[in-house]
Parts: sequence; C-alpha cells; structure tokens
Amino acid sequence: MPPAQIIREDGAYHSFCGLTCVGWLYQKIKDSFFLILGTHTCAHLLQNALGVMIFARPRFGVALLEETDLSKQQPELATMINEIRAEHKPSVIFLLSSCTPEVMKVEFEGLAQKLSRPELPVLFVPASGLDYTFSQAEDSVLQALIPFCPLAPADDKRVVFLGSINDTIADDFALEAAQLDLPVGGFLPASRFAELPAIGPGTILAPVQPYLAKVANRLARERGATVLSSLFPFGPDGTRAFWEDLAMAFGKQVDLSEREARAWSRIEAHVELLRGKKVFFTADNLMELPLARFLRHAGCEIVECSSTYINKRFHGRELAALEGVRVVEQPNFDRQLRDIAELQPDIVISALATTNPLIGQGVVAKWSTEFAFMPIHGWAGIGTLAGMFTKSLRRHSQLDALADPVWTAGLMPSTIPLQVRRPTITG
Ligand code: SF4
Repeated sequence: MPPAQIIREDGAYHSFCGLTCVGWLYQKIKDSFFLILGTHTCAHLLQNALGVMIFARPRFGVALLEETDLSKQQPELATMINEIRAEHKPSVIFLLSSCTPEVMKVEFEGLAQKLSRPELPVLFVPASGLDYTFSQAEDSVLQALIPFCPLAPADDKRVVFLGSINDTIADDFALEAAQLDLPVGGFLPASRFAELPAIGPGTILAPVQPYLAKVANRLARERGATVLSSLFPFGPDGTRAFWEDLAMAFGKQVDLSEREARAWSRIEAHVELLRGKKVFFTADNLMELPLARFLRHAGCEIVECSSTYINKRFHGRELAALEGVRVVEQPNFDRQLRDIAELQPDIVISALATTNPLIGQGVVAKWSTEFAFMPIHGWAGIGTLAGMFTKSLRRHSQLDALADPVWTAGLMPSTIPLQVRRPTITG
C-alpha cells in the first residue's frame, strides 16, 4: 500500500516542554533521580504539571539557574548531587538541560561527566522545550542509557521492548511473548538501572512507543540491532500486527485474527459511538499516527492527522495504514483553526495549551498529553484506549444535556431546535 503523503508546514510547537517526561520516567526507573538545570519557569512548569506533594519525596528536583549570568552562578552541583545521593540513594542521576543553558551556550555535558562516578553515573540529557516535545525527551533519556546496556553476543537472539510502559503492561508483554515462545531480552527502560537489557547484533528491538526513532536508529547503528518494522501496539489492529510481525522476526508464523476479532467485539460499545465520527489531530505527542490508524479502523473519518515529527522509516507502516489521510508534519496552527471551523470535526485531539480554548469555543477537544500517561498498549490496554476517545464524546453530550434546561428556561425560545454545538472559530 502506498504511504500517506506528508505535508510539511514548519509551524510552531504547542507541545509541553521536554522536561515533563520526568513525570513518568522517574516512576518507571525506580532507582533514578532527575535533576533539572532550569530556571523558575521550569520549576513552575514541573510543579504545576506534575503536582507532586513535597512529602511524597519525589525523585526529581530543579537546580535553579539565574538567567542573568549563568556562567558565574552555576549551582553547586557537586554538593547537590552529594545531598541527593545521601537522601534518595539513587543508582543513576539524569542531569536534564533546559532552555537557558541552551540559549546561553553553557555546556553541562562535560560537567556531568566530571561528576559521574562508577557507583553513581550522572548522565547528561538535553531536554529543553526549544528542541524537544515532552515525549521526544524520553528518546533523549534512553540515548543516555545506551552505554550502560551490556553488549549482547551476535548469536543471542532476543526481543528488547523499546519505550516506557507501566509495570502491569510490561508484565502483559512478557506474558504474551512467553505464550508465543519468543525469547525476551528485557525492556528499555528497565524498572531498575542494573536491569538494563543486553543489546547486540542479534537483538530485535520492538518499539512500543512511536516517539523513539532516534534511540532506535542509534541502537541499530551502534549495536547492529534490528528494529522491528510493524504497527505500534495500539488497538486490536496494531497489537495483532505487532505480535505477528515480531513472531515472524523469529521465524514463526502466527495468526492472531481471532484474537483481534475478540478484542474488537470487547470494545463494540465504544466502536459504535466512534463509527462515522470526524477526528482531527492537531499535533502534540508524536503518537498521532498510530492513534489515527486505530480510530480509522474503528470506523472514524480522520480529517487531518498532524504530528510534530514524522520519520518515514520508523513510522513507515503507520503511514502506509493511513493512505488517503491528510498527514501534516509540524502543522501551522492558524491554518488548523480555520480548517477546524470549516470541517467541523466531532472531536479534536489537541495539545494542552490549545485544548481548553477549543473547548471554550464549543469544540469537543481531548488533551493529547494524557495518552502518554495512560496504559493503552497491547491487548491489555485496548479498553482504556477506546474509552479515552469515547469519554470525551460522552462527557460533551452530557454537558449539552445539562445546559439545555437553562437555555429553554428563558434564554432561548423553546421553538428553536436543540443543536449539537459546533466550532465557532473564525480565522
Ligand atoms: Fe524551562 Fe524551556 Fe521548558 Fe520553559 S520551555 S519550562 S524555560 S526548559
């Protein structure tokens, strides 16, 4: 099938800053600490976005930099790291660089190397909001971990699942692999620093997150690993293709068509609501291609699927599955607003900064950041995934129902038929 054509508009990002990947990664890598080299702006963002109470002893913190003279006012990082070591006893510290060092060209990578000890590595991670969306920054973190993955011998053929998923979903993947008799080398990232998987020329890398093109390419280049080319394991269609292709990479032909059919029937109530709905993705989390493909198979019409970054090779199978759909890389949001007003989608999947204004205009809009935090992968995640879309549609229809009596009680002539609210945005 020919892939969907990609239109590139070079629009501005509206995504969450890369630093917010800390929100799920510090929970995933349980013996880690994330130290952010940032300003008050970064600290505010993390406090607001992650909202962790101080008594929860979160394993992340901000080393405050003064923007006026960064080179003279660098924090005493060595002292801070000693304090972190004493208080949290991490096995690894990630030093996340923010916009300010980037703009002022202050280089912290060498400093991280100096602070690093064999018993406690300090790993430099570029994650500024200038260059990275919140999901892409996970790619940066995983790249920093590459040197700590042992080299697997060439004849050791195992699958390594690439991308952070919560422990329950990871157990589901390990169980599924065991049922298909596929040898598992581990997960990157692993739950503990000492459990990083061995990766070598025999490794089959199976990406479970669509925003990890760079780390996958590096592992292919530097370790000779093979990157599985398949759909990402979202929805019954994606999950079936993922496991069938993975089995094929180990020389096993499996037919999961019945399993897929059962999975679709399990979410039939959701599919009924989704069928025929027009969906518009404005670009944010880099998960847009597989999410749009799932919705299309569920009977939706994808009026636009935009994403911040598209890699023709890494996303090749998803692009093929979206043939005929308008796919845009780095879209222009002003143009999108005009199209939303004209095309009147039933639901818009949008970034945090733009979702609430859209809702204020009467558009059914879903905050796309949420998809990065939810267990929506594999067979176990199918119900959650479908429910995330239908919840927004149901909630909106309930809000309309609540609003109707107010209108009919006097603000609106009772003879005017009730209408589904539609976008009223003007360009
Ligand atoms: Fe900090 Fe830059 Fe992110 Fe803002 S965009 S929170 S300044 S790293």
